[in-house]
Amino acid sequence: MATNRTFTMIKPDAVRANNIGPILSMMTEAGFRVVAMKYTHLNADTAGDFYAVHKERPFYGELVEFMSSGPIVAAILEKDNAVESFRTLIGATNPAEAAEGTIRKAFATSIGENAVHGSDSDENAAIEGDFFFSRLERF
Ligand code: GDP
Repeated sequence: MATNRTFTMIKPDAVRANNIGPILSMMTEAGFRVVAMKYTHLNADTAGDFYAVHKERPFYGELVEFMSSGPIVAAILEKDNAVESFRTLIGATNPAEAAEGTIRKAFATSIGENAVHGSDSDENAAIEGDFFFSRLERF
């Protein structure tokens, strides 16, 4: 059964473009509640660890460089069927293919610099949330 939590990041491109506010608005207007949130900056090691599942993919180096290029907002969000519902809200990985009304359609500039992360499974949502947040940081 699907759980009601997912994990997200507002990526360095969207933070640089000063889009934290409008992106959080889209999340909360879509019915997501913030369970945990922090503003932080990954370095090459921590970004590499987070994306270790993509290690063999040709874009891994670019992805790690980009994700450590500036601060990010990390958050755990809650809503029924959170993972699938949030993937619908963020849209396709490539903004050229993202549907109207999605966060990536509105704010992503390329397949790499695509404004937001959203977990792709309940299992990864739990792993990714644990990467950033202790039990004492969830409300
Ligand atoms: P997601 O689940 O929609 O985020 O997509 P993936 O799991 O396939 O890829 C993870 C992240 O890697 C994406 O969100 C992009 O930031 C980045 N990425 C994916 N494909 C490419 C690519 O072809 N080039 C580059 N530079 N980055 C990519």
